Amino acid sequence: MTALPPGAAVPPPELRGVLSTRESDLAAAASDFGNLVHLRPLAVLFPADAGDVAAIVRYGRANGLPVVPRGAGHAVDGQAQAPGGIVVDLTSVARVRAPDDRNLISVDAGATWQAVAEATLPRGLVPPVLPDHLGLTVGGTLAAGGFGGSSHRHGSVSDQVHELDVVTPGGELRTCSPTRDRDLFDAVRGTQGQYGIITRAALGLHPAGRTAIRHRIGCPDPGTLLAAQVRLAAGGRFDHILGSAVHVPGRGWQFVLEAVAVFTPPQAPPPQPGIRPSDGPAPETDVLPYADYLGRLAPFERQLRAAGSWQNHPHPRCNVLLPGRHAAGIIADTLAGLGPEDIGESGSVLIYPVPNRRLRAPRLPKARGTTSVLFGLQRTAPPDDPAALRRMHEGNARLLARALRVGGAAYSARTPYHDTRITGGTAGMAEPLGPPAHEPVSP
Ligand SMILES: Cc1cc2nc3c(=O)[nH]c(=O)nc-3n(C[C@H](O)[C@H](O)[C@H](O)COP(=O)(O)OP(=O)(O)OC[C@H]3O[C@@H](n4cnc5c(N)ncnc54)[C@H](O)[C@@H]3O)c2cc1C
Repeated sequence: MTALPPGAAVPPPELRGVLSTRESDLAAAASDFGNLVHLRPLAVLFPADAGDVAAIVRYGRANGLPVVPRGAGHAVDGQAQAPGGIVVDLTSVARVRAPDDRNLISVDAGATWQAVAEATLPRGLVPPVLPDHLGLTVGGTLAAGGFGGSSHRHGSVSDQVHELDVVTPGGELRTCSPTRDRDLFDAVRGTQGQYGIITRAALGLHPAGRTAIRHRIGCPDPGTLLAAQVRLAAGGRFDHILGSAVHVPGRGWQFVLEAVAVFTPPQAPPPQPGIRPSDGPAPETDVLPYADYLGRLAPFERQLRAAGSWQNHPHPRCNVLLPGRHAAGIIADTLAGLGPEDIGESGSVLIYPVPNRRLRAPRLPKARGTTSVLFGLQRTAPPDDPAALRRMHEGNARLLARALRVGGAAYSARTPYHDTRITGGTAGMAEPLGPPAHEPVSP
């Protein structure tokens, strides 16, 4: 269906895909994982190819309509919404090609990491960094930056990109890389769609084992957790290093380090000396197919979808990158003021350090100093409880303000670029000339 978006003076261009004004498509585009912001666009484009994306960007520009890319819609603050504009839903452009003989894989921006993993793992290959949740799109993740359990070793997902196809704010389709159109290449990674729409990426791959051995170790406090994570990362034996805080009734917040090594039987699992923090408890260990480890959040998603929480409950998440030397104190103080009800039944708390020297994409948010500690309050608010939601928002604002005061940064957060659009301004994409746009607004 190609319809004239109401309010647009000029008919839309010829497109190979679908420009929809169907109620269900507008409603879906006015929603995201956050369930906090709901702003209807005039139309949603399901492009057939990058040419459609370029044509609609030119059309939007000529008609004063903001054109906003959307991936899997995991943003929580309306970042992929376009009130009075056109949402480009890239999930209709999701081809994953076969890896080539240089171990590069070319994937369309709307492909999920699940699809990428399914194309590469059977060949014994995998992107060096994958997000923890494989349901995100490649384009949306590169636009945020993309952290995962192997970031301690390889940096962000957007550091693994060899080449991108990007539709510029002027509606031109360009190919960019570290050696070609470098400004554009640098501008679009980590800036959430502000400087262009990624339509394809060539990603580096490296050898993947078939089996994961996972150790989970309890730590008494965030300082011990972070020190153990840094020590294990320096040892270089683990492929994935993560951490979380879990609220245990009667004991308060407990900290769990997760360290994973990947191998291929009949090779034996790599030896893991020094995994246990001094006088800490013995680790819990399990062995599972690497594909299952990478897709470990999918069963939780299925459960939460079945319960309706995934798609219906508000998710006022807050992810900050804390400077290493302030991280333990801020995490301890923040959690001291929170009970399990402040994270929510299906929520979680993530903690893991990433060395800044691994983060090479210049506009990727990072904390000042040598280490960025990702601290994520992945909250779920009860539905229909405005007081609880307000408390969570206020807590997020306090955490963010404190993080910024000590040289931290917001991750994957709403920025002034999104804010102008969301609050009724017409800010569209910008040419990549301005300063990095990472100053977040208060939630
Ligand atoms: C359940 C869950 C798990 C998550 N896990 C991780 C994780 O492990 N690691 C991590 O780093 N982050 C994680 N995130 C945060 C996530 O990376 C970001 O929200 C990411 O941007 C979402 O990707 P998406 O495809 O859903 O994008 P969307 O939410 O659709 O879009 C997010 C932003 O990117 C822009 N955008 C989308 N597609 C493109 C494109 N093709 N070109 C340019 N701009 C684009 C949008 O306009 C918007 O500003 C998670 C979020 C959730 C809700």
